[in-house]
Amino acid sequence: MASQHIGPVRTCIGCRTRTLPSELLRVVAVDGSVVPDVHRRLPGRGAWLHFDLECLRNAERRRAFSRALRVQGALDVASLREHVEQQGKQVSGQPRGQQETRKQVDPS
Ligand SMILES: [Zn+2]
Repeated sequence: MASQHIGPVRTCIGCRTRTLPSELLRVVAVDGSVVPDVHRRLPGRGAWLHFDLECLRNAERRRAFSRALRVQGALDVASLREHVEQQGKQVSGQPRGQQETRKQVDPS
């Protein structure tokens, strides 16, 4: 007899808030780097993080990535940080330079 759950929740490894996976970014460790698993298709252990540099910094400081991903030693988070920065900018509503509205309208 299966009882009804609210739905799957994940914990952000930065601030430890439990929330829906759609609010979080899945990350995995690949060759000593933490990379964003945007399509949630990469194999292996995943960890979850808000699109927030604060959470990223917290996770980094606590070595939460190594622990959550079961990796020994330091992990490089450069590409993850880049991704979070880009997403963060989009969320805060000031996209710069990425507006390509160069549609050519043919006069007919
Ligand atoms: Zn968080």
